[in-house]
Amino acid sequence: MTKNDQHTFQAGVEIQLQGVTKRYPGASEPAVGNLNLTIPAGEMVMFVGPSGCGKTTSLKMINRLIEPTEGRILIDGEDVTNKNPTQLRRKIGYVIQGGGMMPHLSVGDNVGLVPGLLKWDRKRIRQRVDELLDLVGLDPAIYRDRYPRELSGGQQQRVGVARGLAADPPIVLMDEPFGAVDPITRSRLQDELMSIQSELNKTIVCVTHDIDEAIKLGDRILILEPGAQIAQYDTPENILAAPANDFVADFIGAGSTLKQLSLRRVNELSFDHPVTARIGEPVADVEKRFADVGENSVVILDDRSRPREWISLRQLRRHTHVPTPDIEVQTIDHRSTLNDALDAMLASHHGGAMVTERTRYVGVLSYDSVTEYVRSLNEQAGSGS
Ligand code: ADP
Ligand code: MG
Repeated sequence: MTKNDQHTFQAGVEIQLQGVTKRYPGASEPAVGNLNLTIPAGEMVMFVGPSGCGKTTSLKMINRLIEPTEGRILIDGEDVTNKNPTQLRRKIGYVIQGGGMMPHLSVGDNVGLVPGLLKWDRKRIRQRVDELLDLVGLDPAIYRDRYPRELSGGQQQRVGVARGLAADPPIVLMDEPFGAVDPITRSRLQDELMSIQSELNKTIVCVTHDIDEAIKLGDRILILEPGAQIAQYDTPENILAAPANDFVADFIGAGSTLKQLSLRRVNELSFDHPVTARIGEPVADVEKRFADVGENSVVILDDRSRPREWISLRQLRRHTHVPTPDIEVQTIDHRSTLNDALDAMLASHHGGAMVTERTRYVGVLSYDSVTEYVRSLNEQAGSGS
């Protein structure tokens, strides 16, 4: 089943915060003081800033997990400040660190929680659960009936994303969604979120303390100072090119070439195309395709054209038929940033990384082409533009 078979997803709507303030009892300063902000429909907006500056409080006021002390919140032009908060929350997906799964419910029941509360019929819930597990890269047949404790941290986080999307809300709020997973898994989950979002166009508000994550994922970034005071609210490109003040400059940090790499996508560079081989194919047939003497490696693809391994011709010659790889290798999505690509390359023995487009192999990005690109960026910067 593919996600487009039976459903169209509901696209995002605009969120407006007007003079929103939160004072916690007993605190001398408001946690959020008079925040005014428009989050455009269908965009992914990242909230960043130092710990305690009011990111989570601001986010939770949008779905009224926290009640504002003052101000109004408009969703799609409608004032929701006085709406029933329970009903409001069912229209706003919410994803937290670790996935927040109910340990005693299966993966399928966790994902189907909100549709169940909304009294969807069982068949529709079942279809939706499978569709969403598919969307976040978990085979429903394998994972639907498992329990949270049987999943890795990254898998639990995927389920958390599926659950946030389950009732097809126009808005999804995320609070440090990938903060609890290792860096490689995190960058994969980020790639997946980008690819899901390019398909669904939800309005996503995502809190992170990681400026690189904000630059990578955000259509816009909101940089906050304590009290949720806006230091800058703009696209990543504009913030990097012209930080509004010293606070922002410090926050985004030095090393602008490195930051440029997190703005550039893998598909902006050209790929190499080593010889490919299918699992099970006779090695003698593969060898015939090595026309150029300089070539000495081969990319192994499975029957769904997913890259499975990248090995030397010498290793391949130990077999009569192309073997099924027994390790899982890291690949990069064609929309990944060059920063992530470099990380993947450092983990590979080949000075390059295999690139996929929606899991299908499209080529190899070499380390040389990335360094060449960095050199050209530095030359542009050095020529005083
Ligand atoms: P962030 O998510 O940016 O780290 P928070 O929104 O969690 O910041 O917190 C903002 C400020 O409000 C902090 O000073 C924090 O100590 C305070 N705060 C957060 N939650 C509560 C609460 N439930 N009661 C009292 N103070 C709180
Ligand atoms: Mg927080």
